[in-house]
Amino acid sequence: MITLTKMKIDCPVCDGKQTAESETKTSNIPHFGDIFESTLICSACGYKHNDVICLEQKSPVKYTVAINKDSLGSRVVKSQSATVTIPELGLKVEPGLKSLGYVSNVEGVITRFEDGVKQALIIFDDEESQKNGKVILEQINALVKRGIEATLIIEDPFGHSNIMDINAKKELLSEEELKHLKTGFTIIEEDSLE
Ligand SMILES: [Zn+2]
Repeated sequence: MITLTKMKIDCPVCDGKQTAESETKTSNIPHFGDIFESTLICSACGYKHNDVICLEQKSPVKYTVAINKDSLGSRVVKSQSATVTIPELGLKVEPGLKSLGYVSNVEGVITRFEDGVKQALIIFDDEESQKNGKVILEQINALVKRGIEATLIIEDPFGHSNIMDINAKKELLSEEELKHLKTGFTIIEEDSLE
């Protein structure tokens, strides 16, 4: 069975009113499961985005691991629908239109946060952003070098992510927690309601 939905939405890139066409398709592939495909094409700026997500029935999960010398090398699978958080540093990356899945390790996830902050420092050049950004960068550095107490949390509504560390805690997400999680498609949903 294939379900196809088409709609005009505002472009998330150029802000063009109803210039982007969003097409979502749900289909079932034998031996693989349900697949959700989403395409977004903007006729004004040419923005194109394509996502394929496996909807295979997996329970929504939350992984928590303490960041320390022992866990830095532990393998991390982050799907494109996952939210990554280091609460002690106030760092959070939620899935968005441009988020990608990746396989890395705990240290690699920290490096990605570091890169994100560095990028933000280039874009936001006002004094306060610069000051805050530099404080966060120092904290990130201290995290790896001096073993400051912090935790890495990955929450995935589709259950495809994983932190492969013997000390990682795996929990199922509650309905309530799920409501607060973004899936990467929230932006489209919100725009279409306007
Ligand atoms: Zn556009």
